[in-house]
Amino acid sequence: MKFGIRFRLVALALIVALMGALILLATLNSQRQAAELRARFSQVDFESFRIADQFRDSLRELNNTMQRYGTEHDPVVWNEFLEASHKLDGWIDEQKPKLITQREKDALQQIDVAYDDYMRVARDLQAKLQSLGQPGATLADFNPLRAASQHLFDLGQTLGKAHYDSRRQMLAHANQTLTQLRWLVLGSLGLLFVFGVALAGMVYRDMIAPLRVKLVESQSLMERHEKLASLGLLAAGVAHEIRNPLTAIKAALFIQQKNFQPGSPEHTDTKLVEREILRLERIVNDFLHFARPTEPQFATIPADLVLLETQHCLATQLAQANIRLVLESSAPMRIRVDPAQIQQVLINLVQNAADSIAHDGTITLRARRDRKPLANGETDVVILEVTDTGKGISPEIEKRLFDPFFTTKDTGTGLGLSIAAGIVQNHGGALQYQTHVHHGTTFGIVLPQATE
Ligand code: ADP
Repeated sequence: MKFGIRFRLVALALIVALMGALILLATLNSQRQAAELRARFSQVDFESFRIADQFRDSLRELNNTMQRYGTEHDPVVWNEFLEASHKLDGWIDEQKPKLITQREKDALQQIDVAYDDYMRVARDLQAKLQSLGQPGATLADFNPLRAASQHLFDLGQTLGKAHYDSRRQMLAHANQTLTQLRWLVLGSLGLLFVFGVALAGMVYRDMIAPLRVKLVESQSLMERHEKLASLGLLAAGVAHEIRNPLTAIKAALFIQQKNFQPGSPEHTDTKLVEREILRLERIVNDFLHFARPTEPQFATIPADLVLLETQHCLATQLAQANIRLVLESSAPMRIRVDPAQIQQVLINLVQNAADSIAHDGTITLRARRDRKPLANGETDVVILEVTDTGKGISPEIEKRLFDPFFTTKDTGTGLGLSIAAGIVQNHGGALQYQTHVHHGTTFGIVLPQATE
């Protein structure tokens, strides 16, 4: 059972650790992916998607200026052309680092080369226009420039297409990352849910359900106690009726015994009958005590007095079974008790201890101080202890230890501990025990310490 609980606790700790690790991993992974996505987006200058458009606009502008120069032959217009063409050249160089894919970079490289061609053609055309003078130029003279510019437009088109593909690729990648993140979050939440349900199940099974069982158990225990108590009352009635004839039989037997020679078979028989009568008397007395506990007659006495008297009373008898009854010395302390009743409890505990040892062992009596929760809360107490070196109490017996009429002995009534617990309770105290199977048991009578 203990192994089961430990195993479950370890399993629970492992599951919690595993869940924690999984969630941590998922969080770190999603953070990494989000950071990657952010970095990718910030890398991209969205203006760069307009490079192709801007280039084509500037080129169209240049062509128009050249066209104007062809009709006007004005050196100012030519200068305008040169200025604009320089600007465009610089602008092409500036765009290079902004491009992402190789296709875009290749297209811009080709534009760069073709642009040099275009400029060379433009300069040739300007020289020719200058030498021809106005209005010598024909449309055919513009054909090389038109061809060079058309080639640049085509390359601009290629760059535009490469841009479009690059953008699509990036969006597809972002989409994929977002889908992954979504699944990661959903997966983590799913795992958390499953874990929560499992944990709730475990808590219910291990903590709530057993409580319910315990309630049911204690309910049935109470019912059983009630039944036993009424049975005890009935038995006590019978016991009372038995006690009187028993006393008469004992008296008659005592008279008869005197007529027989000690050692004769008749004398031996009377001894046997006497032993059995004593046993009957004990049972009858136990029943009566159980059914009608008497009110304690309190007196304040030194704690070790009852222990000493118990030792005097039982030591010789126990020595026959080679059981030593030892009284440990202790500091003086006082208790307010009914000495006869507490001694009755002690005798019972010592007798149980001796039964557990059977022969060869030690029973130790001691008194010690402590603080314990009693009916009136935490209290200074004196504990009268009976420690034996017997066989201990197994868990099966422990469950029924204080049940009235529960006994493991052939000649037991099973009332000793019930009566003892009742008496100690009437003193405002409690009965406690610790046991170690095969090593022994310590019963303690916990009593409030007497105020002087
Ligand atoms: P009885 O002595 O008539 O059996 P008790 O109520 O005094 O009735 O004890 C009930 C049972 O508790 C005993 O039969 C015995 O099995 C167990 N028991 C009590 N004291 C001890 C002890 N010190 N060591 C081992 N078992 C004990």
